[in-house]
Amino acid sequence: MSGVAVDASTAAEDDATIDIKHGKTLIHIEISKNSTILQLKRKIERETGIEPMNQKMPNLKLGKHLAPDEASIESLGKLPSKVMLLGKSTKDVTELKNLEKEMLEKAPEILDDFESDVLDSEPLLCYSDPVYVARLAARIEKYKGLSPLNETREGMKLLVLDIDYTLFDHRTPGETAQELARPYLHEFLSSAYKRYDIVIWSATSMLWIKTKMQELGVLSHPNYKILALVDSGSMITVQTKERGIFNCKPLGWIWAQPWSKERGYDSSNTVMFDDLRRNFAMNPSSGLKIKPFRNAHTNRATDNELKKLKVYVDIIARENVDFKTLDHKKWERYVLKVLKEGRLSEEEANEVKGFWPNSTVVRELAEQQSSQAGDQRQ
Ligand code: MG
Repeated sequence: MSGVAVDASTAAEDDATIDIKHGKTLIHIEISKNSTILQLKRKIERETGIEPMNQKMPNLKLGKHLAPDEASIESLGKLPSKVMLLGKSTKDVTELKNLEKEMLEKAPEILDDFESDVLDSEPLLCYSDPVYVARLAARIEKYKGLSPLNETREGMKLLVLDIDYTLFDHRTPGETAQELARPYLHEFLSSAYKRYDIVIWSATSMLWIKTKMQELGVLSHPNYKILALVDSGSMITVQTKERGIFNCKPLGWIWAQPWSKERGYDSSNTVMFDDLRRNFAMNPSSGLKIKPFRNAHTNRATDNELKKLKVYVDIIARENVDFKTLDHKKWERYVLKVLKEGRLSEEEANEVKGFWPNSTVVRELAEQQSSQAGDQRQ
């Protein structure tokens, strides 16, 4: 009898129960302390579908470094009470690869020479990661932000705008904010205001945002009002393979605010502009990556992005399109399609023809017109 008791206690000493936290899920793994980290990862794979190579356990350490696969569990010493697990299951990875393939097949975008844009082809799938969903929920709970500056309005859509390099060139020295403002700023906001509640969201402090917006005259313009200002406190940190760790702007934070809820703002009626695609990590299909406005003094004469986008945001709102069905990467093509189908006013049509004079649509329309004019002369 005593022999059996000794065996049982030895077995108990050799075994460990490790609590693994993956998002909101807690997994208990029973494993011998003599096992290696790789064997532990195999057991985790059986529970989660995440392959060992895709598993990251940041607080499972050997000394100061992440525990290597070949290390035994015993050699790590005292284990954390909960081992954090990051990683995507094979199913998610397959989905990611398919998306990547699909994106590569689409016409590549014109990239400028800034590092932040080089990674634009990396699919952003943070929104499906339970770790980030939980992080967003915690942020909504903890951070209330500034009260809205104005009332929401019935029947509107929601437009969320970045500041730096989107509405304003913050890096170029200038005597006044005005000379660093993106051309057509007020014209764009005045037009958008007719169909959208407008939120300004910048990855900086509220003081800076207020100051900049005041200097630009955005908070006192007679033709439009800004609904709310949102600062970096509403952002969350995420991580992707290619970009590493970064902060992004989760629209879920806005949608959870009482002032947004009262109008039912969500992915079907919200569009967000930013010059950095990584800010869309939690809402990739709601983001429109705007060409960055830099070197204001040189580019002020030619930049007309806001003038062009004015037409796009107006069309999608007035035609009451479900924004979920839109691919904002193709916004220019969308405007040209609407031109071709004759759904623009004469004034808009002339404007759009001037924006893209060399596009197939504009050329075909010009040919049609000249042949019609020819027919009339005959
Ligand atoms: Mg920016």
